[in-house]
Amino acid sequence: MITQLIKEKAAEIEPSLIAFRRDLHRNPELSNAESRTAARIAEELGKLEGMEVVTGLAGGTGVMGVLKGLKGEGKTVLLRADIDALPIEEESGLPFSSQNSGVMHACGHDGHAAWLLGSAKILSSLRSELKGTVKFVFQPAEEGGGGGRRMVQESKVLENPAVDAVFASHAWPEIDAGEIHIATRPAFGFAGGFTVKVVGKGGHGSWPHECVDPIAVANQIYNGLQQIVSRRLNETAARVLSVCTIHSGPQNKSNIIPDCCTMEGTIRSDRRDVMEEMKAQIEAVSNGIAEANGAIAEVTTRSGEAVINTPEAIPFCVEAASKIIGAENVKIDNEPHLGGEDFSEYISRVPGVYFFTGIATPETKGRFGLHSSRFILEESVLAKTAAVMAQIAADFLEKGGF
Ligand SMILES: [Zn+2]
Ligand SMILES: [Zn+2]
Repeated sequence: MITQLIKEKAAEIEPSLIAFRRDLHRNPELSNAESRTAARIAEELGKLEGMEVVTGLAGGTGVMGVLKGLKGEGKTVLLRADIDALPIEEESGLPFSSQNSGVMHACGHDGHAAWLLGSAKILSSLRSELKGTVKFVFQPAEEGGGGGRRMVQESKVLENPAVDAVFASHAWPEIDAGEIHIATRPAFGFAGGFTVKVVGKGGHGSWPHECVDPIAVANQIYNGLQQIVSRRLNETAARVLSVCTIHSGPQNKSNIIPDCCTMEGTIRSDRRDVMEEMKAQIEAVSNGIAEANGAIAEVTTRSGEAVINTPEAIPFCVEAASKIIGAENVKIDNEPHLGGEDFSEYISRVPGVYFFTGIATPETKGRFGLHSSRFILEESVLAKTAAVMAQIAADFLEKGGF
């Protein structure tokens, strides 16, 4: 029974996964600068029986392990982890805290890398039981920097051999360690953004009538944008519009009306049509208000794909994960989530599942979220998640589908 073998191997490698995760945690690297991280991953993958290691992906710091099963030809399944850290000064107080000042693994990607390495170790030891190919993708630059796009579109990790299913997971601080949750609505929503540059006419602060004050116009546009969400969009759709930066004028100069004012923000929804409507409304509101005030609004909008789990893959995943952690610990989540994740690059092209792995203990639950300087990941989940990932891949190859 392969489940028993997976569990035994997971227990055997658990100390090595914790040590590996702590090594990455001590040495975090920002998006697209994960050179040491990538080298450590490649080094560990290189020790594994039957593992082909591909480095230099996605512009340099992406790594992939390719494992061919010995039980014959079959499908190809891809497991993915992201590996980058964030520009945050760590305040967790952990003995293995970041040694890189101002950089921290505050999103758990050190854990993701460790559990994916764990599943590579487990499946490499069970090669004789595998019918098909497993790709272990360690992706850089998830936190901005286009890592997912480059892995998929430039390094073509979904091709040669063509991938039939994709799986990934994120450490989740609001869920108890020991549980995994699988979303039936978007695990991560459609995410996009916008920039509105208001071009007015600058001059002396004491003669506003001779100027077109771009800050005053931007202020009206800001309020108009809020009304898109509250007054213009279908109220049953999940949607978010946040203006996150406004910049205008030189610092410490309080007597100059500047020429322009630029604001940038983010838009999210669980529906593609609502994203399109938001983009159109941002253009219309910005242009209309600017024109009414004698200014010009230069508007750009963008949107990407969501992470939506393949419906038929959900029961498959529930069954596989239940073998490892028990059915009572695998839960279905019917809420939409509007975070962004570039795993959308994979799952919008190939069916699969992105699940949430609980990492909370009674001491940490609800206290420090993702991207917090005090973020803490319960390490007992590393070996368990490695085993869950390994079981999912093994079952997919054995069944030849969901
Ligand atoms: Zn993050
Ligand atoms: Zn993350």
